[in-house]
Amino acid sequence: MMKAVILIMDGLGDRPCKTLSGMTPLQIARKQLLDRLAVEGETGLVDVISPGLPNGSDTGHLAILGYNPFDNYPGRGPFEALGAGIDLRSGDVAFRCNFATVGPDGVIVDRRAGRITSEESAALARDLSEMSLPDHPDVRIIFKPTVEHRGVLVLRGSHLSPRVADTDPHQEGARVIEPNPMDSTEEARTTSEILITFLRKASQVLANHEINRKRIGSGLPPANHLILRGAGQFRALQPIQQRFGVGCAVVAGGALYRGVCRAAGFDVMDVAGATGTYDTDLGAKVQAVMSAVKSYDLVLLHVKATDTASHDRNPARKKEMIERVSQSLGPLYELAGSGEIYIAVTGDHTTPSEIGEHRGDPVPILIWGPDVRRDCVERFDEVSCSRGGLHRIRGVDIMPIISNYLGKMEMYGE
Ligand code: ZN
Ligand code: ZN
Repeated sequence: MMKAVILIMDGLGDRPCKTLSGMTPLQIARKQLLDRLAVEGETGLVDVISPGLPNGSDTGHLAILGYNPFDNYPGRGPFEALGAGIDLRSGDVAFRCNFATVGPDGVIVDRRAGRITSEESAALARDLSEMSLPDHPDVRIIFKPTVEHRGVLVLRGSHLSPRVADTDPHQEGARVIEPNPMDSTEEARTTSEILITFLRKASQVLANHEINRKRIGSGLPPANHLILRGAGQFRALQPIQQRFGVGCAVVAGGALYRGVCRAAGFDVMDVAGATGTYDTDLGAKVQAVMSAVKSYDLVLLHVKATDTASHDRNPARKKEMIERVSQSLGPLYELAGSGEIYIAVTGDHTTPSEIGEHRGDPVPILIWGPDVRRDCVERFDEVSCSRGGLHRIRGVDIMPIISNYLGKMEMYGE
C-alpha cells in the first residue's frame, strides 16, 4: 500500500536577503537531502491561496489540506481550541486569550502578565472554567490554559455568535476593549452580554486569587484580567478521509496546526520534545512520522521554527533551521527507499526574513516518490523550482495530486 508524508516548513518561502549575498535562506542552505529529493522528484511553485495574497498559517493549512479557505475558515479561535484538546461541537464560539495585567484605570500594563508560568496559569484556570452565569444558565464556559500566559475560551450554548469585538487592544498602554456586538443580531448581543458578565466575574476571581497575591508579594505583575481575540464559531469540516480517501495523522508541536488538522479529521500524534520552537526535537518527530506511516495513508509533519526565524528577522537562523530539517530526514528517506512512500515538501506561506511578516509570494514544492515524473530541477528553492514539472499550482491542488499518486482519487466520468 502506498503512503505519503507531507512536510510543511512554516513560512518557508523567502526573498533575496542582503545578508545572504542576495540569496534566499533556502537557496544558500546546505541541505543535501532536500536537494536530492528535488533531483529525483518533481518540483514547482504553490500559490497557497491565490497569487499575491499573504495568508495566515491557519488559512494556508486549510488550503493545503484541500479545503477552500474562503468557504471553510471559522477564525483562529476554534483551531486553537481544538489544538488545545477541547472537543468542539458545531455552534461553539471559541477565542484565543491571554492572561494580562490591567491597571485600575482599565489600561493594559502587560499583555502577557509577566509571562506567568504554565503552572500558575493552570492554577488560575481551575477557578475560571465551568463558571456559572445566573442570567445564562444554558451556556457552558470552558477555559483551558495552554502555554505560559496563553489559553482558549469556549462558549457552548444555542444562539451564540462570533461577531463580537476582540477585547485585546494588541498593545500595552491601551485600554481593554468591551466585547461589543459587531452586528445587530440577537445572537451577537447575547454573546456580548455573556462575555461582559463572564469577564467581570473572572476579574473578581483573579483579583483575589492566591497565585496573584503571591505574585504581587514578590513584586511580579498579577494576572488579573483575561483578554480575548480571534473569535470564531466552529462548524465541522467534511473529514479528509471522505474527501480524498486517505486516513491521516499529524505530527506538530504548535496548537494551531494540531487544531486545523483535527478539524479536518486527522489523528494527532503526541511527541515528547515536539515544542513548536527552535529547540524542537526533529529526530523524535521524524521517528514519530515513520511509526505513524505504518498505520495511516498520509502523515503531515509540521515544523514551525522556520517561520519563527523569519518573524525574528534572522535569515541566518532560518537557513540553519532548514539545514537541520534536511539532516533529520535521513531515516525517513531510507525507509521511503523501499518504494512505498511518497514525500512532499512545501511551506504554508512566504515570510521574508528581512521583513518579518507574511507576504503573498508563492512557495516551492517538491514531490518525490517511486513513479513521479522526474523533472530537470536539481535544487529545492524558490527560484530553481520555478522551472519544475508541477509548474505553478494552488494550495488546494496539493491533496488531489497526492491522493492521485496513492491511487485514491475517484474517476470523474466514464
Ligand atoms: Zn505559517
Ligand atoms: Zn508567521
